[in-house]
Amino acid sequence: MDHTMISIFVFVVICFFTIFPTTEIEDTGLTVDQLCSHCITDGFVQYHIKVTCIKLVLHSVMPLCLVGFIRLLAFINPDDFANAAAVTYSGQFVWEVFYALAWTLAILAVLTVLYWYIDKWSNHPIAKHLQLFTKPTMPDWRSVATNINDEYRRNTKMEIRSNAISTLVVTENWIIKTNLYRINVAHQNETSLVGYKIDIQDVTTDISDASQYVNIAVKPLQDSKHFIIRVSGEHFSDFQDHVNRPIVLLPSVKFRTLIDLFVEVFKEQATLNPVVRFTPLPDMDHCLGCLQVQPDVKIEKHCLDVDASGAMLPEDQRCEPCLCRPQWCITCMALWFASRQQRAERDTWLSKKATCPMCRARFCVLDVCRVESVVQNQ
Ligand SMILES: [Zn+2]
Ligand SMILES: [Zn+2]
Ligand SMILES: [Zn+2]
Repeated sequence: MDHTMISIFVFVVICFFTIFPTTEIEDTGLTVDQLCSHCITDGFVQYHIKVTCIKLVLHSVMPLCLVGFIRLLAFINPDDFANAAAVTYSGQFVWEVFYALAWTLAILAVLTVLYWYIDKWSNHPIAKHLQLFTKPTMPDWRSVATNINDEYRRNTKMEIRSNAISTLVVTENWIIKTNLYRINVAHQNETSLVGYKIDIQDVTTDISDASQYVNIAVKPLQDSKHFIIRVSGEHFSDFQDHVNRPIVLLPSVKFRTLIDLFVEVFKEQATLNPVVRFTPLPDMDHCLGCLQVQPDVKIEKHCLDVDASGAMLPEDQRCEPCLCRPQWCITCMALWFASRQQRAERDTWLSKKATCPMCRARFCVLDVCRVESVVQNQ
């Protein structure tokens, strides 16, 4: 049965990546979108109308294909798969239910596509959506589609892949977000754009502008439903240049610099390190970096002298003991640490080392300990 489970797993993984292709798969040119783009050449809107139909049917027949896949394996290799295939034939209850659902799904998908095709795609959700944008100069959804197609062909458009199933397209007059089975469209002149939130992706692995995303609500006047687009920090000003409307940014929306993000991650790591108990001196000064707050960190070696793979580090790369008393706050220590790093290596800053600003002892982020003041009883 092991062979069968592994085969089913492989099949499910292939299906998953067919639906949600990664950029690596896109590079091979073997995604549904890329293969279809060679055959469907009658314009951006028509392409998406047809490709959503192909995807709907393709995704819906996947469960049926699974049964076919197991039977094919049994045909090629009867020794390992005959039993598994027999189960799909002999009608165990679970398989019968699965079969019934798989057929229902596939038939429903085909019927849906046939319904969409009536009157040359006039029932397709994309056509119905475009119908909202008709006006005297563009009397039906086809003329709206032609207008979008014309603008899409021009070099002035901007196209950003948002994720595996969604792309943002900005032409001279339109903002379009493509999804798995539909597209959202807004005419720029009749749309409000509100940037309402910044998302930050895992900055411990990637500290860059690309890891910040501003979420923008696109609200077309014609449509009661708005849709959300996400634009990364590195594309944001380009996006601003491409839209002819101001983007209203709520006060909470602030792009943070690379250094801001790093300081945050540095602080998070420092809170996981051991706390150092320290008796404050009566004449303890403010932080030497900012002169604003009390020093709250001390460098105390806690790391093991090993590299990322666990091998011992040579003597000249190991962290060193620092005997300095606390004189810096955590923010200034993080800024100091960042200032000692190469910008090009920003993805790995947190794993790098710096030297103590006072005694020059080498330290890493694991050695930056929060200080807990202990008041001595007289
Ligand atoms: Zn400070
Ligand atoms: Zn020191
Ligand atoms: Zn260290």
